[in-house]
Amino acid sequence: MNSYLKEQDLQHIWHPCSQMKDYESLPLIPIKSGKGVYLEDFEGNQYIDAISSWWVNLFGHSNDYINSKIKEQLNVLEHVIFAGFTHKPALNLSKRILSLTASNLTKVFFADNGSSAIEVSLKMAFQYFKNSGEVRDRFVSLKNSYHGETLGALAVGDVELYKEIYEDIIIKTLQAKSPAIVSEDDALEDMAKVLKQNRGRVSAVIIEPLVQCAGNMKMYDKSYIKSLKKLCEKEGVFLIADEIAVGFGRTGEMFICDEEIKPDFLCLSKGLTGGYLPLSLVLTTDEVYSKFYCDYSEGKSFLHSHSYTANPLACSAANATLDIFENENIIEKNRKKIELLGKLLKRFEDLPRVENIRQRGLIGAFDLKNYDFNKRENLQIYQYCLENGVLLRPLAQTVYFIPPFIISDEELERVVDVAYEAVERLGY
Ligand SMILES: *Cc1c(COP(=O)(O)O)cnc(C)c1O
Repeated sequence: MNSYLKEQDLQHIWHPCSQMKDYESLPLIPIKSGKGVYLEDFEGNQYIDAISSWWVNLFGHSNDYINSKIKEQLNVLEHVIFAGFTHKPALNLSKRILSLTASNLTKVFFADNGSSAIEVSLKMAFQYFKNSGEVRDRFVSLKNSYHGETLGALAVGDVELYKEIYEDIIIKTLQAKSPAIVSEDDALEDMAKVLKQNRGRVSAVIIEPLVQCAGNMKMYDKSYIKSLKKLCEKEGVFLIADEIAVGFGRTGEMFICDEEIKPDFLCLSKGLTGGYLPLSLVLTTDEVYSKFYCDYSEGKSFLHSHSYTANPLACSAANATLDIFENENIIEKNRKKIELLGKLLKRFEDLPRVENIRQRGLIGAFDLKNYDFNKRENLQIYQYCLENGVLLRPLAQTVYFIPPFIISDEELERVVDVAYEAVERLGY
């Protein structure tokens, strides 16, 4: 079964974020099943999913409770057009998410993946001004930011690897210095300068709160976001918070942009469905909503849609995920795990190749010194870890851990042990 799947796959399937030729030397791994933190292949090998399958899984694979809630929903309604129709899972989810986020956020728009949520927030911000008679064609994001791979999301991103090739066909945007790279004061000063120079033309500033994940897990403090919000208010531009990767407790808090920050848009996905199904949300304010609310003939409607908008199965997975947060007091429970991760990360201080050990909640990372891009040492680590039952997928020189919340202490120790060996074996 294993070799059959591998061969057939490469004949028919084009995988994401991959040079397909790499699969000649670095074989695909057909996965038969998943349970808890473990993925199992057809030869009975088990892998601890220490990156939560691209940062989406919170409560393990094939979680009994989430399974049961999806099955319940499946017997009632699998999907329905969301224009002109509504359903209970979407309404429940909206009310619950609104009650968990900043009080200025009062309306929920649904999309079906993170990039689409970004597109929605950018279009809404732009159209808000258009509906007010202003054309504000600029967005400001941070250097080293990542907001997804569709053209609009790429445009506000700043990871060269993904963006450079498409430069000619994406809208021009502005990037301010990142507080994850320069000091907070420098970053704020630069942002103030960019906003001033483009006064009257910027509709929104977009950020990834606390951690620039795809930008090599670079981290910064919440104080920057608070000051940025004040600056946005002063300049009369929106603040879009992209908590797609960091929302739902990943950094230790349920969400980052709380009552003190009050973003104008909050984008959520990834952990939203516990890692089960594609779904995303854009939360916004009455002020934004009301700029679109008028007679149809005025031409101010938000005519954006996705076929699977607010899919009921995905919404039921999201509601089940929120149930677990509530019933099992997850944010509180995670504190111990976060502490343990911190302790375990310290071990890497012994390794001469390791620098910049850092952590925010259940995101831990470090960089490899003297990283040789041509040797592709990240793949060597990836492969060694797989051979030893751990799934890690370093971003170039950055090795990171984003485990499911249900990982046990022993499993987390195992992950760190294997990663330690993998780095040790690279030599100097
Ligand atoms: C993953 C991610 C996205 C894009 O989400 P997709 O569902 O992969 O399109 C956007 N922003 C951030 C911060 C992300 O980590």
